[in-house]
Amino acid sequence: MSDAEHRLEAYRSKRDFSVTAEPAGSGIAPVGSRRFVVQRHRARRRHYDLRLEVDGVLASWAVPKGPTLDPKARQLAVHVEDHPLEYFDFEGVIPKGQYGGGDVTVWDWGTWRPARTDDPAGAIEGGELHFDLEGEKLSGRFVLVRRDRDASGKEQWLLLHKDDDHARPGWDPEDHPRSVKSGRTNDEVAEAPDALWRSDLPASVAAVRVGPEAHPSWEAPSAEELRTLDALGSSGRWTVGGHEVKLTNLDKVLFPARDGSGPVTKRDLIRYHARIAPFMLPYLAGRPVNLHRYPDGVDRPGFWHKEIPSYAPPWLNRWRNVDADPGETECYAVVDNVAALVWMANYGAVELHPWTSRLPDVRKPTWALIDIDPGPRTAFDDVLVLARLYRTALEHLGVAGAPKVTGQRGVQIWVPIAPGYTFDDTRRWVEKVSRAIGHTVPDLVSWEWHKDRREGLARLDYTQNAINKTLVAPFSARPAPGAPVSVPIRWEELDDPDLRSDRWTIRTVLTRVEQAGDPLAPLVGRAQRLPEL
Ligand code: MN
Repeated sequence: MSDAEHRLEAYRSKRDFSVTAEPAGSGIAPVGSRRFVVQRHRARRRHYDLRLEVDGVLASWAVPKGPTLDPKARQLAVHVEDHPLEYFDFEGVIPKGQYGGGDVTVWDWGTWRPARTDDPAGAIEGGELHFDLEGEKLSGRFVLVRRDRDASGKEQWLLLHKDDDHARPGWDPEDHPRSVKSGRTNDEVAEAPDALWRSDLPASVAAVRVGPEAHPSWEAPSAEELRTLDALGSSGRWTVGGHEVKLTNLDKVLFPARDGSGPVTKRDLIRYHARIAPFMLPYLAGRPVNLHRYPDGVDRPGFWHKEIPSYAPPWLNRWRNVDADPGETECYAVVDNVAALVWMANYGAVELHPWTSRLPDVRKPTWALIDIDPGPRTAFDDVLVLARLYRTALEHLGVAGAPKVTGQRGVQIWVPIAPGYTFDDTRRWVEKVSRAIGHTVPDLVSWEWHKDRREGLARLDYTQNAINKTLVAPFSARPAPGAPVSVPIRWEELDDPDLRSDRWTIRTVLTRVEQAGDPLAPLVGRAQRLPEL
């Protein structure tokens, strides 16, 4: 029995697995990452569950008054049994009558570091743990100290915050009630939960999605809503996906015409963002996004924009990067609903580049990305030769991935990966595959870093597998006449003589996805191990 298995014994013993024949609590995620979560849990009594990832489980304390930044507070923290990692981001309802029955929100999350020790499990065993939190609400140095046992034998600890730079006298967790995962309160989650936690099932299958739609906010706008947008003057307010968005300069031309089909206005881009939302949001939700903005149209130079502006609406989700150095972006938008996509279009964010990692662990990618970046002398047929070589290599390795035209001249291949890899892992893996492919067609590929030394050849760019390096989102528009779009395709389509990287535009891609779907969609979230090379 592994350490993690051993530590989950108590959790399992509280649950009745008789309803299922499946083995309980297998498949623990990789060790090494250190995340923390605080869940606000209304069960028999309201409390906050502080959970620290230690050796493959969530070491847990129930804090009745909640953790605080107030350095004077000494909060009771009852040490409860370790929880499985699968519980980390659970938000929803635990049915009445089951262990912990009530409602749960993800009140805070982030990363943590043990202080004064390299052996946090040992420190917990010894009854004193000093640690630093970097969350969205909590930060700074905390201390957990064991004091006593209660009548039922549970260990009573004290949780306190050191009087450091992050301390806030009088800070009360109840003044900050909203979930960092969904922006919702416990009441709102209890009323319309997205998930149930079946305490009676093994952890790997205990979170059960509920509700008529997994993501009700990802429904495309109704015909009536679209008519309202069309009827607006040059500016106005549009209510879509439950939020009101202020729209401006709707008839401004953002993209010149192409193929005789007329220029593309900001209203057209907004309409497109709203309609493509159900297909595009799975690639954006839960990730910081880097914006390539062209507010004066794609004829003018665009610019990168990352910091969310102060006038952004409060419902636009955001992520604060606590590691930002002075002058670096601190607060990124997280696009996770239709209205947010609409707001981005109005903001002139023509290209959306989501991070390869998901919150809260931005150092851990969920995709390995292959970027076939053509040089001036690279014909599209050469790009296709390279893409087919990747296809053969991935097939040979038994790795699932899907190609995507960039909407400009290139092709990318997106490979979903299991949790636990670092960017070093994915970068090295993609580099190895790419070097092998490059060796078979040396006349097509350059490994020179500098563009002007590449002699016009293609670059197999593995370096985008890094934190805060990004590729354009599937279904994002590109800054070119007619508003071409980056579109995932099936491998067979590489052999379609009509294929071009910029074949589809915001005017034609909706018909395609409504008929053919999105071949990359089944790979979203797939926990795939990368084979050793
Ligand atoms: Mn609890």
